[in-house]
Amino acid sequence: MSKIVVVGANHAGTAAINTILDNYEGNEVVAFDANSNISFLGCGMALWIGNQISGPDGLFYQTKEQFEAKGCTIHMECPVEHIDFDAKVVYAKDKDGVAYEESYDKLILATGSLPILPRFEGGDLENIQQVKLFQDAKEVVDKLENPSIKTVAVVGAGYIGVELAEAFQRNGRHTLLVDMAPTCMANNFDPEFSERMAQNLADNGIEAHYGEGVDRFEGTDGKVTKLVTNKGSYDVDMVCVCIGFRPNNELVKDSGMKLFANGAILVDRHQQTSIPDVYAVGDCATIFNNSLDGEPGYIALASNAVRSGIVAGHNIGGTALETAGVQGSSGICIYDLKMVSTGLTESAAKRAGIEVKTTTVTGCQKAPFIEHDNPDATCKIVYDANTRAILGAQIASTYDMHGNINMFSLAVEKKVTIDELKLLDIFFLPHFNAPYNYITLAALQAE
Ligand SMILES: Cc1cc2nc3c(=O)[nH]c(=O)nc-3n(C[C@H](O)[C@H](O)[C@H](O)COP(=O)(O)OP(=O)(O)OC[C@H]3O[C@@H](n4cnc5c(N)ncnc54)[C@H](O)[C@@H]3O)c2cc1C
Repeated sequence: MSKIVVVGANHAGTAAINTILDNYEGNEVVAFDANSNISFLGCGMALWIGNQISGPDGLFYQTKEQFEAKGCTIHMECPVEHIDFDAKVVYAKDKDGVAYEESYDKLILATGSLPILPRFEGGDLENIQQVKLFQDAKEVVDKLENPSIKTVAVVGAGYIGVELAEAFQRNGRHTLLVDMAPTCMANNFDPEFSERMAQNLADNGIEAHYGEGVDRFEGTDGKVTKLVTNKGSYDVDMVCVCIGFRPNNELVKDSGMKLFANGAILVDRHQQTSIPDVYAVGDCATIFNNSLDGEPGYIALASNAVRSGIVAGHNIGGTALETAGVQGSSGICIYDLKMVSTGLTESAAKRAGIEVKTTTVTGCQKAPFIEHDNPDATCKIVYDANTRAILGAQIASTYDMHGNINMFSLAVEKKVTIDELKLLDIFFLPHFNAPYNYITLAALQAE
C-alpha cells in the first residue's frame, strides 16, 4: 500500500491516476489541480470557435466525480504551492484559503505547460487572447458574440494557429495569420507541404503575413485596435497569441531536480525524475525522441501525455514498464486538406546535422479506375543516408489517409529501413488503394 500524490489532473495526470486505480488495489491516491475542470481537449477549441461542433460539452472525458467513485481524493481549484522533497510533503491551498499538507510515498508531477506570452508593448490590452484552458476558449467564444469584432489576427502559424485561423474565418471574421517564419507549420512539415497548406488558407480567404514579427499592439479605450509588425500595421479587433508552450516547472525549478534545456523535467524511461520516488508526466516532462536516436526531447502533445501517464502509473503500481519513446506523430485537417507527419522532416534532419535522403511520390489514393472520391496523395519519406533507416514521413491529401502515418510511426520506432518498406505486404483493394500504391512506389524509387 502506497500513498500516491498527483499534482495536475489533466490528460497526463488523469491517465496516471486511472492506470493506478484501475489496475492496482490498496493504494491511496490524492490529487490536486489548480483548475476547476479536468480533461479539456484543447484540440476541440478551434472546432468550437468555428461552429463545427455544437458546444463544448463533448470536449471533456473525465470528471472529479468519476475519480471519487473509484476512491481517489481530488482537490480542484487547489494549486500546490510548495513541495518539500526531503520530507516528502506537498503543500496546497484551495480558493477558499483552506491549506492542505499531504505526505507521499510516491509523487507524480503532471503540471503541464503554459502558453508562451512575450511582453509585447500593448500586450495587456483587452481582446488579446491566449489559448490553453477551457476558460480561454469560452472567453473567445463569448466575445465573438459581439459583431463589432470583425477582424481577428492569429499570431503564430504552428498547427494550433492554423487551426484557429480556420476557426475564426469559419466564424465569419476577417482573419489574419502572422508568423516570423516564411510559411506555416514549418516545424512539422517540409516547405513543399507547408506551401500547400498556405495556399489552402489563402484560397479560403485567410490573409497571411509570413516573415513578419510582431512588434507591438496599439489600442483605443483599453481595447486592441492595431497589430504592428516589423513590416506593417493592421487594424484588428481581437488577437489570439499562440506561439508555443513552455513546460510548467514552477514547483521544481529551484529544487535541484535535473531539467532539460527548455526547463522540462528530465525523466528516465520509467518517467522517474532525478529525485527518488518523484515521477513526471506529460507536457512538464521530457520524452524520448526515436527519430533522434532516442534522445530526450520536448514534444508537447496530449497523445504523449496520456502514454507517459500510463507508463508512470504502471511503474508506481509495481509493474516495471519502459516507455517506447515517440516520433512526434501529428496531423491536421484544415478545410478539406489533411496533412499528417511523423518523425523528422528533411529540414529538421538537416538542422540536427543528420545526412538524409528523401523520396516523394504523388499518386491517386485508390485504384486509378475509381472515378469518384479518388484524389491524389503526396507522400514524402525521409531516411538516413547511411543506415537507410526511415526517420520520418509526411503525407498530404484531401482524402482521409491519416492511418498510413501510424505505420510510418512504427517504422521509425523500430528503425525499419527504406529497403524493407519496398516489399512490405500492403494490401490492395480498389476502394482503398492502388495496386502500385504511393507508399510502395516511394520506397521502390528511393536511391
Ligand atoms: C488549442 C490546443 C490544441 C491542441 N491540439 C492537440 C491535438 O490535436 N493533439 C494533441 O495530441 N495535443 C494537442 N494539444 C496539446 C495538448 O493539449 C497538451 O499536450 C496536453 O494538454 C498536455 O497534457 P498535460 O496533462 O501534460 O498538461 P496540461 O494539459 O497543461 O495540464 C496540466 C494540469 O496541471 C494543473 N496544474 C499546474 N500547476 C499546478 C499546481 N501547482 N497545482 C495543481 N495543479 C496544477 C493545471 O491546472 C492543469 O490541469 C493542443 C493544445 C492546445 C492548447
